[in-house]
Amino acid sequence: MTSPRPSTFLANAVRSGARSAVDVLEEHLAIIESGDGEVHAFNLVTVDLAREQAIAVDRTVHAGEDPGPLAGVPVALKDNLCTRGVPTTCSSHILEGWRPPYDATVVDRLHRAGAVMVGKTNMDEFAMGSSTESSAFGPTRNPHDTSRVPGGSSGGSAAAVAAGFVPLALGSDTGGSIRQPAALCGVVGMKPTYGTVSRYGLVAFASSLDQIGPFATTVADAALLFDVIGGHDPCDSTSLNRPTPRVLSVLDDGVAGLTVGLLTEFLDGADPDVVARTREAADALAAAGARVEEVSVPEVVLGLSAYYLIAPGEASSNLARYDGVRYGLRVDAADTVAMNRATRSAGFGAEVKRRIMLGTYVLSAGYMDAYYNQALRVRTKIIEGFATAYRRCDVLLGPTTPTTAFPVGAKTGDPLTMYLSDVCTIPTNLAGHPAVSVPFGTGDDGLPVGVQVLGPALSEGTILKVAAVVEAAAPPLAAPVLAVGGRA
Ligand code: GLN
Repeated sequence: MTSPRPSTFLANAVRSGARSAVDVLEEHLAIIESGDGEVHAFNLVTVDLAREQAIAVDRTVHAGEDPGPLAGVPVALKDNLCTRGVPTTCSSHILEGWRPPYDATVVDRLHRAGAVMVGKTNMDEFAMGSSTESSAFGPTRNPHDTSRVPGGSSGGSAAAVAAGFVPLALGSDTGGSIRQPAALCGVVGMKPTYGTVSRYGLVAFASSLDQIGPFATTVADAALLFDVIGGHDPCDSTSLNRPTPRVLSVLDDGVAGLTVGLLTEFLDGADPDVVARTREAADALAAAGARVEEVSVPEVVLGLSAYYLIAPGEASSNLARYDGVRYGLRVDAADTVAMNRATRSAGFGAEVKRRIMLGTYVLSAGYMDAYYNQALRVRTKIIEGFATAYRRCDVLLGPTTPTTAFPVGAKTGDPLTMYLSDVCTIPTNLAGHPAVSVPFGTGDDGLPVGVQVLGPALSEGTILKVAAVVEAAAPPLAAPVLAVGGRA
């Protein structure tokens, strides 16, 4: 059992001279051109820059040098990753016209691995949301059914990979924003351990939770991308200064002898079809030699409440910098205070304003102890709950999301219902742990279901080898049919 690696296949073709990077790029640009009108995965396709990068890769090959493990592989970047001279909007009007003066560390590493950056993907504004509907530029659609959301907040990156626009993409995950859209779009998405991937050049939402991670069509491709972007970076003070797990080499090790805990709290409240797929994935792991047992981590049910105090608190502080002076939009007014108010009123959308108000409230004198500090205590409880479970189990297994992709517009009027779609992903962020979502069949509506493998800090190698076994046992997923109205 070997997890397929389409990116390595492409990169090897480019490295050997069998295909040119320009040819690979043009093929993908044509697919984007024909499909993205309907999907709207991209805020910006950087055609000229991508062509320049592809030409440079081909030149390296012709010079007899190796461009790297991602030679000529087209990659899409979530639009909260800084790209030098290229607009980085966070799908917000407040960053209108802003071009970062530097590249994020992950962008730099992709470049050095020979990847070709094709564009910036749509997202919920400042990564706040679960459906990509809070984007100031309109929603992204799920390639499996364009009447449905792709999930969020990295919905553009997930949809771009699912639609075949790019084999690889990067997203960010603060409370589920890689894994949840990966699940709803039928692709692989991983949130790495906090500190393993540099956040330098990732526009901050909630700094103690944000992590950058890979989207791919297969587990092995996600592993390859993680190997490229991971590792210590002195530019990020929270970057772990110790070796990042190298994951590609252990992917095929199998699960014999591992103990897998089926997390009961994640099964409660999920739709019956999603629960059924998760149990089938657990059965596949048992058949491959793992010991599977049901495990309860009661503290995880507190995750959502703690998250919606901690994340808005951090966001209200991080987003104070958009003052009309330093970045993007400025709405002129009589004095500085009025200008600041006018800029922020016009520049931020409703969800971002809601989070800033919530966050300012929970950090305010008099309420900080009752809300923010209490949430931090709950966070510690969750970490302890996971630690107890990981004394018995190597990994935990559960659904990534309680439902399959919901219709566009179904939850926009009710923020609480929207927040609930991250109930199974948020606890991992609060603990700083890694988790990966792998497609496993479909729900009763024919839409993809994602199964989530969770592990303790720095267990990327373990969760990915478990994910590889789940992937090998998964029923094949029909390729998205991009036509008006999606599937019949
Ligand atoms: N949906 C969650 C939120 O809106 C998580 C978002 C994320 O991971 N960026 O906060």
